[in-house]
Amino acid sequence: MSQGLATVSYLGATILFILCLGGLSHPETSRRGNLYGIIGMTIAVLATVFGPSVGAAGYAWIIAAMVVGAGIGVYAARTVQMTQMPELVALMHSLVGLAAMLVGFANYIDPAASAQMSGAEKTIHEIEIYVGILIGAVTFSGSVIAFGKLSGKISGNPMLLPARHWINLAGLLVVIWFGREFINAHSLNEGMLPLVVMTAIALLFGIHMVMAIGGADMPVVVSMLNSYSGWAAAATGFMLSNDLLIVTGALVGSSGAILSYIMCAAMNRHFISVIAGGFGTTGGTPAAAGAQPAGEVVAVTAADTAELLREAKNVIIVPGYGMAVAQAQHTVYEITKLLREKGVNVRFGIHPVAGRMPGHMNVLLAEAKVPYDIVQEMDELNDDFPQTDVAMIIGANDIVNPGAQDDPNSPIAGMPVLEVWKAKTSIVMKRSMASGYAGVDNPLFYKENNRMLFGDAKKMLDEVLASLKS
Ligand code: NDP
Repeated sequence: MSQGLATVSYLGATILFILCLGGLSHPETSRRGNLYGIIGMTIAVLATVFGPSVGAAGYAWIIAAMVVGAGIGVYAARTVQMTQMPELVALMHSLVGLAAMLVGFANYIDPAASAQMSGAEKTIHEIEIYVGILIGAVTFSGSVIAFGKLSGKISGNPMLLPARHWINLAGLLVVIWFGREFINAHSLNEGMLPLVVMTAIALLFGIHMVMAIGGADMPVVVSMLNSYSGWAAAATGFMLSNDLLIVTGALVGSSGAILSYIMCAAMNRHFISVIAGGFGTTGGTPAAAGAQPAGEVVAVTAADTAELLREAKNVIIVPGYGMAVAQAQHTVYEITKLLREKGVNVRFGIHPVAGRMPGHMNVLLAEAKVPYDIVQEMDELNDDFPQTDVAMIIGANDIVNPGAQDDPNSPIAGMPVLEVWKAKTSIVMKRSMASGYAGVDNPLFYKENNRMLFGDAKKMLDEVLASLKS
């Protein structure tokens, strides 16, 4: 393929990636957005493999690597449960970081890459390598820890080392100092030591940074690592002089940064304070951090729930992580259809951090074919709870915790929540009195107008549906 055709292909792919991001911003257009992304990526891969930078000798390696990579990808996509999606995404981010690190080292070792360079050009190339490996290493180790936290393999509690900010600052100063050493190095061997020391510090920093963030602040970590993975890809693009990788990385990096900002706004947190860590639970006994809830817990049956729904005129359904675990979205929609046929006004209230990844609930509801016009954001319907007869909470906990508003000592104090307790009756569907991801007790369960329907959400909703039909 000629250079001209490769450039045109890259341009086409860039446009498709921008259209893809635009499409993904709304559920109705997200399918089309995904399609643009797939076409763009196919063009990008073909133009790169058959482009002028790859010689015929490299084809066998590339095809072998693609077969292995695609095999793992297809296997993962087919076997991973919807509830494991956030972990998979974290793991994918770690691979981008790892790739940036490896490309950086390979680029430094490769004599052909720097042979013709001298002076400022050489310095710029070395800065690209140094910064690329730095971002890649932080992304890699941070994402592996995020994977551990999201999958429950590592405790979700923040690990707060004494003087952690000083440790981070010391790490930064050492990285800057070794950066100078690296650029001033006269030989490959001389440059390798600072590079390896910096990589080790960056790996430790990634671990430390994500370990210090816990509880309800994890959504920001997921989107932040998404952003980092984009910058790592952009850095790789600079190292390889690949314009498309630079543009694509910058698109992912900046959209991840915007998402992090949105998540922070949704949780009423400052980005810097989240990154600095220390929010969420303080470890050990979660409920001790906030006030002990008072009141009695009233359990109801599925038949009672059906009765309450039958008599209601306005219903708001609030789905959370438990709906994803139980895979209850299809039954939820069956119930919604039935109630709507009976003239009940049913809507869904979506909290920005419900579930375990941005847009988690929207994806599940779209899969169950729930019409988009009855799926509303928290801000759109939070004022409507006082006029609502039944608020049905399906496997949600932190996002409906009134302690976020009433209890300044709560670890999630200040986080906006869906005010379900203002409805005439709220019904919480979950298996036990266990806390949610943030590990905080929920005073909602003890409120006078709240009812608990204990059990697996899918099983209980099946029973509610059966009662409604009878
Ligand atoms: P929570 O984690 O607060 O609560 C989920 C509840 O679902 C649990 O209390 C659990 O209770 C219940 N549950 C689990 N399995 C089932 C089941 N099979 N049937 C019925 N109930 C079930 O989830 P929310 O969605 O309310 O809040 C999300 C939390 O996750 C927030 O703290 C958010 O910060 C955090 N988070 C969000 C991310 C995002 O990007 N959206 C990323 C990372 C973290 P029980 O065990 O008693 O059944």
